[in-house]
Amino acid sequence: MSSPSAASGSGTSNGDGGANGKIEQYGPAGPFGAVFQIIPGVQNYDWGIEGKKGSLVAVYGEATEQLGMKIEDDKPYAELWMGTHPTLPSTIVPPPNCPRPPPSGTFISLSSYLNRHSSLLGDKVVKKYGDGLTRNGGVDGPDGKKKDQGALPFLFKILSAGKALSIQAHPDKDLAKRLHAEKPKSYKDDNHKPEMAIALTPFRGFCGFRPLGEIVHFLSVVPEFHALVDPSDAFLSEVEYASKPTSGTTEQETKQWLRKIFEPLMKAKMTDVKKRTMGIAQRYASALASGSAKDLEVDESLAKLVCTLNEQFPGDVGVFCSFVLNVVRMQPGQAMFLKANEPHAYIEGNIVECMAASDNVVRAGLTPKERDVDVLVDMLTYSSGGPDKQLMKPRPWLPAKGSKTREAYGVAAEGKEDDDEAIAAVELPLDVASPSAAKRDEPLASLPSLLYDPPIDEFSVAVTRLRPGQAEKQRAVQGPSLLILTAGKGKLRTVSAEGEDQREFDMDKPGKVFFVGAGQEVEISADESGDEGAAAGSLSVFRAFVEVAE
Ligand SMILES: [Zn+2]
Repeated sequence: MSSPSAASGSGTSNGDGGANGKIEQYGPAGPFGAVFQIIPGVQNYDWGIEGKKGSLVAVYGEATEQLGMKIEDDKPYAELWMGTHPTLPSTIVPPPNCPRPPPSGTFISLSSYLNRHSSLLGDKVVKKYGDGLTRNGGVDGPDGKKKDQGALPFLFKILSAGKALSIQAHPDKDLAKRLHAEKPKSYKDDNHKPEMAIALTPFRGFCGFRPLGEIVHFLSVVPEFHALVDPSDAFLSEVEYASKPTSGTTEQETKQWLRKIFEPLMKAKMTDVKKRTMGIAQRYASALASGSAKDLEVDESLAKLVCTLNEQFPGDVGVFCSFVLNVVRMQPGQAMFLKANEPHAYIEGNIVECMAASDNVVRAGLTPKERDVDVLVDMLTYSSGGPDKQLMKPRPWLPAKGSKTREAYGVAAEGKEDDDEAIAAVELPLDVASPSAAKRDEPLASLPSLLYDPPIDEFSVAVTRLRPGQAEKQRAVQGPSLLILTAGKGKLRTVSAEGEDQREFDMDKPGKVFFVGAGQEVEISADESGDEGAAAGSLSVFRAFVEVAE
């Protein structure tokens, strides 16, 4: 873990003056103002991508000088954490000309600063989330109850997966409460943990159950899989019949069949699992090596996946999830939302991830960590469908009124006073992907910001891509935001009323992270680049935020 030591949030040396009754002197946002750079943390889990293989976590981590990171070739860099989660909380870089910087070498944690300057979170966000997030060790509230009003309801991450992460699912709110009460050591908090992933590079992961017909096909052609689930012919012919469209099998019955396949697989005897996993991996590996993969019962990419997973986790039952779960591929800019109680596992690639602030994971395979197969098998919804069902579509995120880029949203959006009306009028190109690959002459680049808005309250993520020299004013969000520059170079400015100070921050290296307080309008601009027509000059920023709907 890399993270500079945070100065404690209490006492008189906190540096920001807030606790010393000097709030008036600096305004409600405190001496750091409403926008400042933050220092994220880096996790070097062993599944991360190695430095020499281009881990984006490594590249982005190095951009924050205060982390003092130098990329090592053979070291895995797995996750960059941005937020207030107590496991790896972000700290603040005092802005230039800060009237009261903390003592050199110490950094104030984002959560303690937000706790003292709660206007940065916005009234509604404090009201909705401020008192509920007690698990963070909390700051004592005036009534003596533990509370941490400085905690963000979401955690924002960059993830670089070099090998598969565990097969897992996250509990919904009710199950999280129960698990936390029963096994507080394994389930550290009582919150749900919906996740959203947006690809930065081509990405592959398991997500949700395959359609029953596909799984049954694999049962009938892959002998090792059949043997582990239920070796009897009767089982196979029954489920084969049930999977036929003409059989009249109801949705509920389909779910029961999925469970009848998944549960015995996940609970199969360890020695059986080892034997079958090694068997299938050897069979596929030798076919791949001898160039006879076309004779296999599955296509080559699935055979390769089975071999790869077995190399990473020899003899693990998770290898067989290849036949049960969808393999979802995402191109840069494509996103998926992982609902509660949906099985998933990232396999490889770099993504931006946002989740509700929680650490509740129920694991069942491809992991050296604790497994809780009983809970996992019980909690799943067993809904199924193809990989496309897992992907989510972004929609335009309109720039602030008066921003030049607002025109770029096209004639249709012009003259529409109401944002929703304007959004409805914008036609989104189908190939809405590639925030990192916007080219100068690409029509997509005229849509600077897209919003990924999952069906939960705790977060949304906007992606802004700007061509060299282009600028966009982003409307004041009525809640806290975290911004990370993921490509290009540019500036981040506060947009203030006339006469007020304007602050400007250099976004000079991909990986720099900033906080923007509630109610603060900002402008993002991309530097001019001499590199005509190249994507190198384009800028890309991801912004996670929370707002409480009216
Ligand atoms: Zn997950």
